[in-house]
Amino acid sequence: MDRVAEAAQRSGRPPEAVHVVAVTKYAAMDQVRQLVELGHADLGENQVQQLAQRVPHIEEFLARKRTLGHASSKTHDATPPQVRWHMIGNLQRNKVKQCIPLVNLVHSVDTLRIADELHSFGARYDRTVDVLMQVNISGESTKYGVSPPAVLHLLEQLDSMMHLRVRGIMTIAPHYENPEETRSIFSRCRELFEEAKTSGVTGEHFNLLSMGMTEDYEVAIEEGSNVVRIGRAFFGEPQG
Ligand SMILES: *Cc1c(COP(=O)(O)O)cnc(C)c1O
Repeated sequence: MDRVAEAAQRSGRPPEAVHVVAVTKYAAMDQVRQLVELGHADLGENQVQQLAQRVPHIEEFLARKRTLGHASSKTHDATPPQVRWHMIGNLQRNKVKQCIPLVNLVHSVDTLRIADELHSFGARYDRTVDVLMQVNISGESTKYGVSPPAVLHLLEQLDSMMHLRVRGIMTIAPHYENPEETRSIFSRCRELFEEAKTSGVTGEHFNLLSMGMTEDYEVAIEEGSNVVRIGRAFFGEPQG
């Protein structure tokens, strides 16, 4: 968190301008609980199946904490009243119904088809679904995401869907040995983000730029990211 704060300061912003999502996909459940007890309220998963197990587990943990209240003997218990879950992985249409009630933000909308499905879900349950559009800046064929030239047009289509609220864009940089090499990817993504804002195809809620992971989050923040998704730096390398 100190490193996040320092990177924010280097980009001329206060530490609280950057949201840190702890990616729990490789973490053990007790590590997740520990992080929540330290006051961390934003958690991310990339699979619906894992969300379906972990969200109720943490809910129960929080409910128990609330009941115990001040009776808790731990002196440094900073457990937040609620956590926010982020779906950061590719979402299949047949999982929308299971996923959306579990999460606060979907980072990975990258086709009109999945947007349509999310919108229909929102309409059916009379709610708004908050989403980011995933953009593939590098053009790597192994990555999901909308190609940069298609971004503005698709954003315009999503913006017309009443039950979707497009909150910003997300990108994953390619893996480089030297994180400096990701800088141009992140700055290009930032430009697209600004372009979308000034072009008028998005609404007032379009203010999240999700980029940066364990290897490259400092560079991403320096280039303007305000949401980082960090797994291994919190929980260590995945076991087995
Ligand atoms: C796993 C994952 C992360 C976190 O990666 P780390 O390298 O462990 O920080 C971030 N974003 C997405 C989309 C992921 O799948």
